[in-house]
Amino acid sequence: MDIKALIRDIPDFPQPGIIFRDITTLLRDPQGLKYTLDLLSEQCAPLRPDYIVGMESRGFIFATPLAYQLNAGFVPVRKPGKLPAAAYSQEYALEYGTDRLELHKDAIPAGSRVLITDDVIATGGTAAATAKLIQQTGGELVGFAFLSELTFLKGRQALPDVPVISLIEY
Ligand code: AMP
Repeated sequence: MDIKALIRDIPDFPQPGIIFRDITTLLRDPQGLKYTLDLLSEQCAPLRPDYIVGMESRGFIFATPLAYQLNAGFVPVRKPGKLPAAAYSQEYALEYGTDRLELHKDAIPAGSRVLITDDVIATGGTAAATAKLIQQTGGELVGFAFLSELTFLKGRQALPDVPVISLIEY
């Protein structure tokens, strides 16, 4: 199945020059959604994760069913001020300014195997910041899984040296 054909390209969103890869058209397609999740879980299974970490908010969409399929747990990484219990916090650079991501301190037991998931890897800044949060927990980062990769931005180079899975490339 052609996953790319189900992803809608929106030029100049959210700002001029960006081609936004809109996954809502893939998510609403019953066969496309099933095929994508099955392929993702097939490719991630050999990494044997105990926890799938997904970043707010589109990361949640893939991380949770992936966790279900791999008999793993789902752990959210959220934007500041959303998590109710004590959290680790990691700042990261955006094109203009900085942002911050948070993870519950007790979410990942030390030594457990962790896979980080998001819909798109662009510059890799979000995924790299999430990896730093995992590092603080003492969990073992075993890999990253993305639905799509904007290869021209070389986001992989920003990530630690673990397997990086992406289903489609732009
Ligand atoms: P980055 O931190 O630069 O790798 O950006 C990754 C985050 O921004 C992900 O959570 C993506 O969902 C989102 N993102 C970046 N570029 C795009 C794009 N062209 N289309 C859709 N989402 C994007």
